[in-house]
Amino acid sequence: MEYSEIMVRYGELSTKGKNRKEFIRQLGQNIRNVLKPFPAVVVKAQRDRLHVVLNDQPAQPVMDALQQVFGIETFSPVVKLPKDASLADIQQTAKQMIKEQYQPGQTFKISTRRQNKNYPLNTYGIDDGVGSYILEAIPGIRVQMKHPDINLQIDVRLSGIYLSSITIPGALGLPVGTGGRATMMLSGGIDSPVAAYLAMKRGVKVDMIHFFSPPYTSQQALAKAKDLAAKLAAFGGTIDFIQVPFTKVQEEVKKRVPEGYLMTIQRRMMLRLAAAITIDRHCNGVFTGESLGQVASQTLESMRAINDVTSLPVLRPLISLDKTEIIKIAREIDTYDLSIMPFEDCCTIFTPPAPKTKPDLEKTREFEKLVDVDGLMQEALAGIEVTKINVGDDYLNSQEDVFAELL
Ligand code: ATP
Ligand code: MG
Repeated sequence: MEYSEIMVRYGELSTKGKNRKEFIRQLGQNIRNVLKPFPAVVVKAQRDRLHVVLNDQPAQPVMDALQQVFGIETFSPVVKLPKDASLADIQQTAKQMIKEQYQPGQTFKISTRRQNKNYPLNTYGIDDGVGSYILEAIPGIRVQMKHPDINLQIDVRLSGIYLSSITIPGALGLPVGTGGRATMMLSGGIDSPVAAYLAMKRGVKVDMIHFFSPPYTSQQALAKAKDLAAKLAAFGGTIDFIQVPFTKVQEEVKKRVPEGYLMTIQRRMMLRLAAAITIDRHCNGVFTGESLGQVASQTLESMRAINDVTSLPVLRPLISLDKTEIIKIAREIDTYDLSIMPFEDCCTIFTPPAPKTKPDLEKTREFEKLVDVDGLMQEALAGIEVTKINVGDDYLNSQEDVFAELL
């Protein structure tokens, strides 16, 4: 079927009153962004619907791209006929559309809506005229009014007559950019990319903060985190990736703090640095991939002792999810295979064999006085590097090229 456009139905944003205009504007912009590889395509964001006019571009790759945009409830590929198309023209297009989908034994119905009252047939006339034609043209097909397998919608509008029979669920959520800005603590693990995806789903634009500890962590570990950001850029557009050198902090903490409190104090330093970057970038919160009870640093007591360093909201979208549920989403968003690549993380290397699962807040504060918090912070912040990362960027493989040249 040669579709002329994709009709996009808005999600939750429809209910947002006066913000509606801004939501539609942002969604339009985000859709134009993901459709950049298709320069012929034109996006028209209107009050009630958004139209992606294909201009002879095949529908499928465009629909694949739309599937990843938050703020879309459903979408349908549509054939547009001229506004004065005859019943015979409508019948032909309807037949072709239904035939493409039809499997033996299935049922159908025709649902016509008519905004153009000048069209010579009323909705009943069209329903009946097209319905009886289909019954004759496709042997074995049956009409069913409630829950048919195929619901062919005919929209008779002033601008044209639109036919569609497929409705595809969108990614739901809110358009990225309408929920403000936050930072995300992105490791190379399974959880934080999923948390980043869920943050974006609520419309938040996220800047990624990644701590790395050369020479204890490799260039590949850093490249892997960047590649994860590139995967996530599919959902939220270009991402600022902020790499923070963390070696000195970890060495100092390890040298001075009793082993049981190493992990807690390292994490406090991470969060303090993340909070400083968050405020510096005029962001309003920090997202993490923590899930309650998953590891020693993710008990309520640990979270309290770590969270103590900032009054910014620390948001944890995975807080109640099981690992299996997290892995399921990681697979869906295509971050899982990258996440399980075995490059060591800065936390695993410096994790003591038995970190306290219930650190005491007062003791934590006391032990932390053994390190030069301000000096270490300044040094780490001075070493930050920011990279703009786009969908399709590939840091691990481009590094392989470099290695191959060296050999
Ligand atoms: P993940 O799979 O996201 O690494 P995890 O279950 O392995 O999570 P931890 O490694 O303890 O748990 O990390 C908890 C959270 O702390 C991560 O989800 C992430 O938000 C943050 N974090 C951990 N390591 C780093 C890092 N190197 N850079 C940035 N953030 C990190
Ligand atoms: Mg981890």
